[in-house]
Amino acid sequence: MIEHIPYIHLIEIYNEKYLYDVNTNGIVHISDEMFVFLNKLISNTSISKEQISSEYNTLSEECQSDIDLLMQRGFLCDKNENIVFRHPETDRLEEFYKTNLNMMTLQVTQNCNLRCKYCVYSGSYVNRTHMNKRMSLKTAIEAVKFLYDHSLNSDSVTIGFYGGEPLLEYELIKQCVQYAEEIFAGKKLSFNMTSNATLLTEDSIKFLAEHGFNLTISLDGPANIQNKNRIFAASNKGTYETVMERLELVKKICPEFIKNISFNAVIDLKQDVSCTSQFFMTYDLVKEIGVSGNYVDVNNLKELEQDEVPPEFYANSNYEVFKVYLNSCTNLLKGYDSSLYNFHISALHNQMVERNVYNKHDSCYDCPGGQCLPGIQRLFVNVDGKMFPCERVNESSDILCIGSIQEGFDIENAKNLLNVAKISENECKKCWCYKMCELCCGKAENNGKLDKGKRLSFCKTSRYSIEENIKNYVTLKKYGSRTV
Ligand code: SF4
Ligand code: SF4
Ligand code: SF4
Repeated sequence: MIEHIPYIHLIEIYNEKYLYDVNTNGIVHISDEMFVFLNKLISNTSISKEQISSEYNTLSEECQSDIDLLMQRGFLCDKNENIVFRHPETDRLEEFYKTNLNMMTLQVTQNCNLRCKYCVYSGSYVNRTHMNKRMSLKTAIEAVKFLYDHSLNSDSVTIGFYGGEPLLEYELIKQCVQYAEEIFAGKKLSFNMTSNATLLTEDSIKFLAEHGFNLTISLDGPANIQNKNRIFAASNKGTYETVMERLELVKKICPEFIKNISFNAVIDLKQDVSCTSQFFMTYDLVKEIGVSGNYVDVNNLKELEQDEVPPEFYANSNYEVFKVYLNSCTNLLKGYDSSLYNFHISALHNQMVERNVYNKHDSCYDCPGGQCLPGIQRLFVNVDGKMFPCERVNESSDILCIGSIQEGFDIENAKNLLNVAKISENECKKCWCYKMCELCCGKAENNGKLDKGKRLSFCKTSRYSIEENIKNYVTLKKYGSRTV
């Protein structure tokens, strides 16, 4: 028998009804009768205990027994008003920093030989712009040593090279690799690099292959797509032909290195996305290489772009996503495993399949999702040796800086970032999707502060996206998805 208002969110997909249980983070398929009953409870916050009991008594026996069973399993509890938002790892963060680092990305230069139109360093974003600043060899070696000193408990470590365009600092990278291989001897060590590929040479390709690099190449699609946005700084000319030449070179001199390459494609919805998707699945030189797409980043844009995206582009994009989903449930579409839009499946997998489901939420501490352990999952070191949670946050903001190679971690600041949800605690406590929230400190920073208004400005989009993901997840599961 239920006598309180449960902390749930109801979801309807076509004729199917589901409940999302906030306390347990569980999703349950329910009958129409239960849906109507629960909807009555949550739509009327002043409903009394007696009214709830009397509504319950009018339900069919089957529905009552389903409700009782859900309650025995910890579902349908009421909201715990005493819950305090505090990340469960807050007190262990300092300990993690001492011995558990396993990944560091070095910004070896702030310069780039390209001027991609949507680049976060292009000047259109609240962030630094392209500059001639480069990491000194001293700082780079100190950073690698810092990683060594703080990774005693990690069986494997990864060092990434990032820019600007990291290959502008090829000599520095070679010295870092040599030093890292010396000091990490006996530990599993791997390297990665994100590059526009235009500066690859026979020598650098052989070097990257010999040292087992994973190389992510920025390629947006066929010539007309790539050349629209990814242009050389010196000539304003497109880069497609050069990138293809460099890939041909890799195939010729180190064909086995191709398996270590992947593409990162920025999806600009003002272009024909179906032709981009086809390109990655069918074009000879690229079809064996995995691709991960991502949409143009609108966070921190100084001015939101005014140009309207024509509706047919959204339709084309949605159709590509639909085909990826269909491919995960049937064998009707060949090749869609390597579609540009496959990242929708992996994102769904991470958010829905990998989520924790609890028997009952007993702890008085909890915390919205969305924030990583800053510096533990990733650690970004800029040219000056300042450390940030990752390369995606605004590196010109001190509030997002978690210390420096020279002075060590700024524990208090790192704890503040980990608990960024504190700034909107009242709102988040009332939010049905807080456990799956997607917003981190990068989306709260504004003018050097963690800003509640900025964080909350993303809530509508975040809630919409979570509800869509729940719907897609249950639908894909229903139709036997192999990947979700
Ligand atoms: S290659 Fe990367 S860093 Fe260089 S302009 Fe393009 S997006 Fe920016
Ligand atoms: S984007 Fe946010 S959650 Fe993701 S790694 Fe960076 S700081 Fe962490
Ligand atoms: S969507 Fe907004 S209100 Fe909800 S948990 Fe995230 S930040 Fe808080």
